[in-house]
Amino acid sequence: MEEKVTLQPEEAPASEADSDALIDQFLAESGGGAVREDAGVVAAGWDEELPEGHKSGFAALIGRPNVGKSTLVNALIGHKVSIATPVPQTTRRRVTGILTEPTYQIIFVDTPGIHKRPPHRINKIMISEAVAAIPDADVLLWVVDVGAPPRDEDETIARLLREKGRTIPVLLVFNKIDRIGRQSVEEVATRMAAYQALLPDDAGAVQVSALEETNLDLLMAQVLDYVPEGPRYYPGDQITDQTEYRIAAELIREAVFRYTYREIPHAAAVLVEDYYERENGVTYIAARVWVERESQKPIVVGKGGSLLKRVGTAARHELERFIGGKVYLELWVKVKPNWRDEMARLRELGF
Ligand code: GDP
Ligand code: MG
Repeated sequence: MEEKVTLQPEEAPASEADSDALIDQFLAESGGGAVREDAGVVAAGWDEELPEGHKSGFAALIGRPNVGKSTLVNALIGHKVSIATPVPQTTRRRVTGILTEPTYQIIFVDTPGIHKRPPHRINKIMISEAVAAIPDADVLLWVVDVGAPPRDEDETIARLLREKGRTIPVLLVFNKIDRIGRQSVEEVATRMAAYQALLPDDAGAVQVSALEETNLDLLMAQVLDYVPEGPRYYPGDQITDQTEYRIAAELIREAVFRYTYREIPHAAAVLVEDYYERENGVTYIAARVWVERESQKPIVVGKGGSLLKRVGTAARHELERFIGGKVYLELWVKVKPNWRDEMARLRELGF
């Protein structure tokens, strides 16, 4: 038996007056809350005359899980292009965020966090996605949490950057500076030095808060120093190279995650099966939520479908924000045993 819920655009979330507040909260946390008014419309069109000295290039964000890579990309782009949650290993594949200004275009490549002991095949693929982004970059942004000292994984990352990125400049990004409040200056300086010691002397460094959007201008100035002159690779109004299908699947997955990660941290996947605009202007989206075990299904569905409905409502809001129009969403839950290890299932998901 399949559980299914349908979320219609007009439908007010039943007994859920707090759902908007919840959604706003999770948007704020993931850096997708504030859609800058100018985001994506500056210098639209890519065939227009580019100014002398126009720069362009790829900046890959590498780092441990949960240090704020996705939040940073979203903040830099001014749009949510990559989902971000408090749970490590949310990002499963490379995601680009494209920032176009009159004098430059930077393509930020967000990657899954690099961690040790990958438990499933999907985790191995995730790590190889991150590693594969290194040699193609013009500059590597190694994102770390300024509040936490380097661990084994950071040594692995530093080695990867050296070996796979040989001649590519590295910029150490100390994120979450909003959180160092009560720590002493010495304590923080020692920690930063410990990270810096893992890199060659000429690596740059910058301190930012992706969440509060602090020092992003300093970060951009440094990135631009490393990026060569070049053309626009994408139209000026394009903010990502992901397909709408994939973005929709990610936004739904984020909502599933938010409501169920305590019970099933990483066992859910989302497959969008239908996505089209109806004649009345409403976008119809049908998606299947995969779980690994029969016992996980009732967790996602909830009593009388209540949880799936909350997930759907949150996802629908996000989808409407992304699409800029009304969305009709249908969600099903399906058990796919072992999908995280089965190549055929992973291929279905586009890995
Ligand atoms: P990723 O795994 O490296 O992509 O990390 P995410 O972008 O998913 O962020 C992980 C968590 O850290 C989320 O809960 C974010 O809201 C939070 N976070 C990200 N950047 C900052 C920051 O600058 N300050 C604070 N306080 N939290 C942040
Ligand atoms: Mg991420």
